[in-house]
Amino acid sequence: MERSLIKDVLAEQRFGEPSRVCGWVRTKRESKGFVFLALSDGSSQDTLQIIVFPEAPAFRELHRCNTGAAICAKGILRESPAKGQSIELEATDIVVVGEVDQATYPLQKKGHSLEFLREIGHLRPRTNTFGAVFRLRNILAAGVHDFFQARGFLWVHTPIITSSDCEGAGDLFTVTTLDLRNVPKKDSGEVDFSGDFFGTRAYLTVSGQLEAEFLALSLGRVYTFGPTFRAENSNTTRHLSEFWMIEPEMAFADLDDDITLAEEFFRFLCREVLEKGHRELSFLESHYKKISCDELRKLAETPFVRMTYTDAVRELRAANERFEFPVSWGSDLQSEHERYLTDKVVNGPLVITDYPKEIKAFYMKQNPDGKTVAAMDVLVPKVGEIIGGSQREDRLDVLAQRMSEVGISIENLRWYLDLRRFGTVPHAGFGLGFERLVQFVTGMANIRDVIPCPRAPRAIRL
Ligand code: ATP
Ligand code: MN
Repeated sequence: MERSLIKDVLAEQRFGEPSRVCGWVRTKRESKGFVFLALSDGSSQDTLQIIVFPEAPAFRELHRCNTGAAICAKGILRESPAKGQSIELEATDIVVVGEVDQATYPLQKKGHSLEFLREIGHLRPRTNTFGAVFRLRNILAAGVHDFFQARGFLWVHTPIITSSDCEGAGDLFTVTTLDLRNVPKKDSGEVDFSGDFFGTRAYLTVSGQLEAEFLALSLGRVYTFGPTFRAENSNTTRHLSEFWMIEPEMAFADLDDDITLAEEFFRFLCREVLEKGHRELSFLESHYKKISCDELRKLAETPFVRMTYTDAVRELRAANERFEFPVSWGSDLQSEHERYLTDKVVNGPLVITDYPKEIKAFYMKQNPDGKTVAAMDVLVPKVGEIIGGSQREDRLDVLAQRMSEVGISIENLRWYLDLRRFGTVPHAGFGLGFERLVQFVTGMANIRDVIPCPRAPRAIRL
């Protein structure tokens, strides 16, 4: 008999029909001579209750159906008299597919701390918490594609290995096949990469934006959704060394269009999880009290507040608050400042625009004031920055001038300047850190708990 997914069994409610389900035993308990198993197959937040009567052949297998065991159970679906569920499987047959050693299985019925679960990353998706997080992550990922596909954006695949080190987004990982026991050096003492695999130094990408730009300037509207890497030594609850980024890029668009897209995108994804991940959200809400579906619903309807960097600085300087880092025009906003603005000033999502050009990347479009650029960051309560974007500099002379000011080789980025030479148009885009979004939606405090295998300084074991 074909295997059914527990999510379908629960949704379809086919009482009286035969069914076969496979999964891992969460709990086993006995009552009045029958035995109940709670079975999870990962397809749903809810487990399916399996009831076994003493006369069923399945009964003889129960001694091997301990917490963590993989089993397939066959039987008839029945209306359940128990509270909190409407359907259960009355099992006739059980096949124990994979037994479990009770004495050493790390997951017990009692709750475990997130720290403990991080140590057993390969087993944590079997818990309610991580099942919820990873199913929500999937809903968001599918939602990303739905959103862009419905608006005529093409999903493009930009490289993971790159020779460009000038995006300015952070420190890079070098990719090399040089013999580390005998690294070739130039006379100057620098490493000589000319004999390396690519004949030049190569890195893991920090962003697909520059490539997305040439694709947007031919295909119109594109987005990337792929892994990016940062070698910064930041051990925070919001930084990973490997994370997934979504980067839409639009031709014939300015900063305003960019903010509108970011806003629609964010609100769409909030609605998606509320609709498709309701069980998961409710579980996390009741268990951790860090998110609330009501708040999320409200956010899905709240327009972003827009504020220029200059106004944000004014607001922060006027604040009756002791910041660790003092604020002055020209300095980058620290997370304490961002949090003050989102949580205390606007109490919701906030877009800060028009940052000083010195603290932003070379490719952002310079404003007429000569001091600021058409940049925007989206900040949300609790998480802080989740989106960074800008209108790009589309004027050849201004871009070339800026590149030489900040010391970026025009030779290496000739192709990038070509885009301003051959049919240049105003264009804009942004980068959304996917894990920050998952963090925001799930309320997980640590970014390492929203990706299956977190990569962070000195953390790569699994
Ligand atoms: P931050 O100031 O928070 O370190 P950033 O300004 O360096 O971020 P950008 O280069 O603008 O980040 O990257 C775009 C988006 O990617 C950010 O808004 C954020 O959501 C996400 N992001 C950046 N760095 C990381 C990281 N180390 N781990 C996870 N997400 C990140
Ligand atoms: Mn940023």
